Order: sequence, then structure tokens, then C-alpha cells
Amino acid sequence: MSLFASKIEFVLVETSHPGNIGAAARAMKTMGLNSLKLVAPKDYPSAEATARAAGADDVLASADVTHSISTSIDKSTLVFGTTARDRSEKWPIVSPREAAKLVANEVAAGGRVSILFGRERSGLDNQELASCHQLIRIPVNPEYSSLNLAAAVQVLAYELRLLSDSQSPPENDKETELASMGDQDAFLQQLDQVMQQTGYLEVDHPGLVRFHLRRLLLRALPTSKEIKMLHGILRSIRKHL
Ligand code: SAH
Repeated sequence: MSLFASKIEFVLVETSHPGNIGAAARAMKTMGLNSLKLVAPKDYPSAEATARAAGADDVLASADVTHSISTSIDKSTLVFGTTARDRSEKWPIVSPREAAKLVANEVAAGGRVSILFGRERSGLDNQELASCHQLIRIPVNPEYSSLNLAAAVQVLAYELRLLSDSQSPPENDKETELASMGDQDAFLQQLDQVMQQTGYLEVDHPGLVRFHLRRLLLRALPTSKEIKMLHGILRSIRKHL
């Protein structure tokens, strides 16, 4: 696997049909990708998944199975959600081609990227979409827009393939390295505690504060140095409480 490919993870969320997991693994491997994560798959491991993976059973064998999206993306610095629906009003939405460029830039800057794929029936829910930096929508025939999950995986993997050969090795620059989702989560949890202690956040009526803070961080693309600084500020506030 190339260095480029090793920084890109495809995350399948609560997939119902094991055949789709196998077909997704095959789609990835044909394009030189093999980091697959499965969040709470309904029926897995399964003989059907292995059969549909054809020769890509190594991708399945090394797939990480987790219970939550946040665990599966905690090392990532940039997260995309794929969606069939046109919900572009609230969140930035890009084409697979534009997304591939953003992925390549992030990997070149030393980051790691996750691309989330939703449930066959209902896709990713609003909360999950809101936890992504950007959304990707594959342009489709408006009269017949339903794309199979593994077909969507194939389109994204192909666009990344087109860029993978032209990639230079990542430069790890500590000054500009983005904070991982795990670091951001840890900061938001600490902030939550401080807000509860100061009374800003009412435990029984938290409202949308957490949601807006999450969106703020996703927009701001904080570096890991900046998150460390914010942590330090919180620690100093807590000392005085
Ligand atoms: N009815 C669902 C469709 C889910 S299709 C919905 O409205 O969201 C299952 C998954 O395939 C989606 O969650 C997404 O990850 C992917 N997918 C299907 N069509 C897509 C499209 N046009 N663009 C991007 N991803 C798509």
C-alpha cells in the first residue's frame, strides 16, 4: 500500500448487508486503498462479505470493527461524510473530484483523512453529517438517484486513485499539523465540564451549545498546538474554580 493510501480510511457506518461490505472492500483494493473501518455492522463477519470481496479478503481481514464513529475517526484530522441527499444549505458540499484534492492536500500536510459512508436505507443522520468537516455528494441522475453503497465507495476510491500517483511524501510540519478528532473531542469534553462548573451549561438543558462548539472547531481547522493551548487555558480556569 502506498504512503498516500495508508493515510486514508473509509468508514462504513452500520451497514446492513454484508455483501455491500465485501463489495466495498473489493472496490477499495482495485484502487490501491485498504484501510477499512466498520462501525457496528449489522451482520459481520459473514460468508457473504468474504464471497463478494473476491480477492480483497485481506482488506476485510484487516478491517477494524468499532462501536462508534468517534472511535473510528479519532486519529483523523479531516473527516468527510458522503451523502445522497442535497443538504448543501447548512454545510459545505463538494464533488468527489474536489474532495480528492482536499484529501491529497491534507495528506501532503501530514494529516489523516476519514471518509464516512452511511446506512443503505437512511444514510448518515444529521448529527453524524454535522460532525464532518465537509460533505461529498456524487452528482447523479435526478430521476434515478439511488446509488449502491459499494458503487459510491468505488467512485470515491477512483477519484483518489487519479491523484495518488502524483503525490509527494508528506511533510510533517508541527506548526501547521491539524488537531486530530480525538484531540478535539478531549478538548470539548473538558470544556463541557468547565461550562457545567461555571453554570454556563445546564446539565438538564444543554441546548445546542455543544453542537455549535463542535461546528466552530470543524470550521476553524485548529492545529494540534492550538488545541493544546486551549487545553492549557481550561486547566488554568479549572484551578481557579
Ligand atoms: N436513502 C439514503 C441513501 C443511502 S445510500 C439517503 O438518503 O442518504 C448508502 C450510502 O451510499 C450513503 O449513505 C452514502 O454514503 C453513499 N451514497 C449513495 N449515493 C450517494 C451519492 N449520490 N453521493 C454520495 N454518496 C452516496
